Amino acid sequence: MKKTITFIAAALICTGISAQTKEQAKENPDLFRAIRDLSRTEIIIPDIDGYKAVKTDLHVHTFFSDGDCSPEYRVKEGWRDGLDAMAITDHIEYRPSDSKMQTYLGVKKKNDKPDLNTSVKLAENAAASYGLLIIPGIEITRNPREVGHFNALFTTDNNKIHDDDPLIAIRNAKAQESVIQFNHPGWARNDANFTEPAKQALAEGLIDGIETFNGEEFYPQHIEDALNNHCYIAGNSDIHATIHDFYLRSGYFRNMTIVFAEECTLPAIKEALLAQRTIAYGCGTLSGSREMLGKLFLASIDIKKIYVNENGDGNILITNKSSFPYLLNGPSTSVNILLPPFSSIKVGFKKNQELKYTISNMFYGVNKNPEISLPLTDSL
Ligand SMILES: [Zn+2]
Ligand SMILES: [Zn+2]
Repeated sequence: MKKTITFIAAALICTGISAQTKEQAKENPDLFRAIRDLSRTEIIIPDIDGYKAVKTDLHVHTFFSDGDCSPEYRVKEGWRDGLDAMAITDHIEYRPSDSKMQTYLGVKKKNDKPDLNTSVKLAENAAASYGLLIIPGIEITRNPREVGHFNALFTTDNNKIHDDDPLIAIRNAKAQESVIQFNHPGWARNDANFTEPAKQALAEGLIDGIETFNGEEFYPQHIEDALNNHCYIAGNSDIHATIHDFYLRSGYFRNMTIVFAEECTLPAIKEALLAQRTIAYGCGTLSGSREMLGKLFLASIDIKKIYVNENGDGNILITNKSSFPYLLNGPSTSVNILLPPFSSIKVGFKKNQELKYTISNMFYGVNKNPEISLPLTDSL
């Protein structure tokens, strides 16, 4: 029998208290090892309209451009973070580590041009055993003030995209039937408006999606821009360091583009993106169309009357069955109420009162939060 010693320790992150168990090694009775947590976080998001909620991150860097981590680490990290699919999108034009990495891996010889497909291929190889889907991609990376950055997703050959003219580069990517995403519209700029080349690309129908969340940044003006221009709304990590450094220590999941797709396959995800069936998640906030946000919220909760007095007034229990927190502002309160994941709150109601709540951490435009009437049946 293995001897087990259990220590209860105050954990620094998230859960408050955790049990850490150490086990005696089979090969050495003097050696005790801590049991590692190798689990994946399951993020529970309800399906909408019969479409599966596919959790994706459409913007990820590795050390083949300027990220800190290998493609293999990104795969393990993405799987553990609960993603279903992840795009690898290293920069084309900014690759301080590329030469070192490709030389180290023996895939680059002196004076070779870098193979811009390498990080995608390494991620695909690693991801197969995790059941994580890799979306091949690349980031077209130009001066942020004058041009901006664009992700090409579902690329077939990243080596055939570059051109000095950014519009030609975008057209080259489009020729591979790629999906083009305008990234972090206000990063390193004084506003978040479309740059001239981005406007031109949009007018040509080359832009398919816009990031409303990128890392810690939020661009609410682009929610309506995206919807008005038939672009999907994205929320991505654009991770360069580790997800743990950036998100988990702050108590958040990594940013995600939730894609409502028929299934978790590359063609189905692409179809859903082009049909704008997405909701973006960024550091506790959600953005999307008013309609989709409303459907997500209602599918995430259960409502039950728990008490009615002789006047017909009473209390209801709102239960959040999803992994996202919601901030509710409603008739019974003047401040936001937090409805944490997998929790219930009790709120009061008056007889015949419409229970309309503003969901303050959901945005369908600048300062636009959906107002949702809770369906209340008469029975307890
Ligand atoms: Zn960028
Ligand atoms: Zn990036």
